[in-house]
Amino acid sequence: MKFGILGAGQLAQMMAIAGREINDEFSFLSDDPNSCSAPYGDLIVASYEDVNAQNKLAQWADVVTYEFENVSGEAVANIEAQVPVHPSSSALAVSSDRLLEKTLFNSQQVGTADFCAVSSAEEVVNAFKELARPCILKTRSEGYDGKGQAVIRSLDDIAAAWESVGGVPCILEAMVPFDREISVIAARSPSGEIAYYPISENSHREGILRLSVALQNDPMQATAESMVKRLMEELNYVGVIALELFQVGNELLANEFAPRVHNTGHWTIEGAVTSQFKNHLLAIADERLGSTTVSTDVAMVNLIGSIPEQERLAAVPAANLHAYGKSDRANRKVGHITLVRNNEQSLYEFKQDVSTLLAMVGEADLAASFLK
Ligand code: AMP
Repeated sequence: MKFGILGAGQLAQMMAIAGREINDEFSFLSDDPNSCSAPYGDLIVASYEDVNAQNKLAQWADVVTYEFENVSGEAVANIEAQVPVHPSSSALAVSSDRLLEKTLFNSQQVGTADFCAVSSAEEVVNAFKELARPCILKTRSEGYDGKGQAVIRSLDDIAAAWESVGGVPCILEAMVPFDREISVIAARSPSGEIAYYPISENSHREGILRLSVALQNDPMQATAESMVKRLMEELNYVGVIALELFQVGNELLANEFAPRVHNTGHWTIEGAVTSQFKNHLLAIADERLGSTTVSTDVAMVNLIGSIPEQERLAAVPAANLHAYGKSDRANRKVGHITLVRNNEQSLYEFKQDVSTLLAMVGEADLAASFLK
């Protein structure tokens, strides 16, 4: 099967690694000639807006997908007119606009933080008074990893917050005093078959994911599954989806969904029978989905900025290192490490390994709290 992918970063790379095992072929379109997926297929270097490049990808591929949601709707619509694109342009359009996304959640009885659409500093003032709580101003589109966001705690913060997000259409959202952040990843095929992974508990710092832990038999699993099922069915969704949720007491509130494979599911490569990357390919190729069974404890630590030296990593021999082949840069995701608890390890020993890795990558607070 020939898969075309818009984007050629680590998500495209991991899809290609999964697919090449069964002789799938890959072509990537990216504006970055140094894309880390290049060794895994054919790289078309061009602007995402370049219609000739879009056509080249569409004419070669049996099916096209994408690794990030900020790809333009026109580009996807042009490709979709020539070859199937999954997830569809309509799912992409909803996910790339926080207002449409939260409106969809609420229409499907999927709860969210209270929010208001705002398009001027004056509207922010009115919305802030109405919500009457600390809030986060978020651009409706093009924000990721905490970018395009500003916290507003008092009326005095509004002018600076509005300027910092560039004065573009936004939503003002009440801050949620969450107990934990979780995500549920699922895959749906064109026939409507759905496979769910165990939910992940996720820890962020500065808006960037640092740690994901797979939770087997979590009491919120069924609720999370029913939320993501409603969304997928409403969108007639095909492919892998990730729904990020806040847990407050016994309630789950949806934050956002990603119409693609997701960082909080990287642990599935070693931790589940079928990885999220393989299941995404199976879903968009209209094949039976693979088992999502997880039989032991699994965690993933992100490597942000740089990869620890080999000598330091030797302290955790069970570490499965995924180095994406990207150059070091502050706040850039350059790799991740998955840890799978083996039969000889106690839960405490496994947690000690995760904690050692967290401390190694500069997450001292998380390392300490994880052991408790
Ligand atoms: P987002 O870009 O919406 O995924 O937000 C990035 C991170 O900011 C989330 O993972 C949360 O840790 C935090 N965050 C976003 N929205 C809220 C909210 N309404 N209340 C509390 N924390 C939030």
